[in-house]
Amino acid sequence: MSDCLFCRIVAGEVPATIVHQTETTVAFRDISPQAPTHVVLVPREHAPDAAALAAAAPGVLDALFLAAGEIAKAEGIAETGYRLLFNTGADAGQTVFHAHLHLLGGRPLGALA
Ligand code: IMP
Repeated sequence: MSDCLFCRIVAGEVPATIVHQTETTVAFRDISPQAPTHVVLVPREHAPDAAALAAAAPGVLDALFLAAGEIAKAEGIAETGYRLLFNTGADAGQTVFHAHLHLLGGRPLGALA
């Protein structure tokens, strides 16, 4: 989808600091990090949100979580802990409608609101 920001990052049309890639996933640093480590992991194929991705390609959802674990190790936060979350829909704060998994860590994150 040419009007989708994360599709354009996957395609290399918009620059991003890519930290991990697989056949089905791409992970890059969030442009507005909310923690010392804040990585956004996306499927290469477009799906509007996590539920749609789960319905269309559950294996890719697995791949995103596997990649997140590898990135956490590489970032040195696997032992101290990190948060994985999908904002799904406007009320949850989703602003980019290409499914994406946030990986946050590197500081105590506190309880969810
Ligand atoms: P959402 O609010 O869950 O949809 O998350 C979208 C995330 O994408 C936000 O944390 C943004 O800071 C991040 N973001 C937006 N544009 C870019 C970009 O061009 N590169 C990397 N991250 C981005």
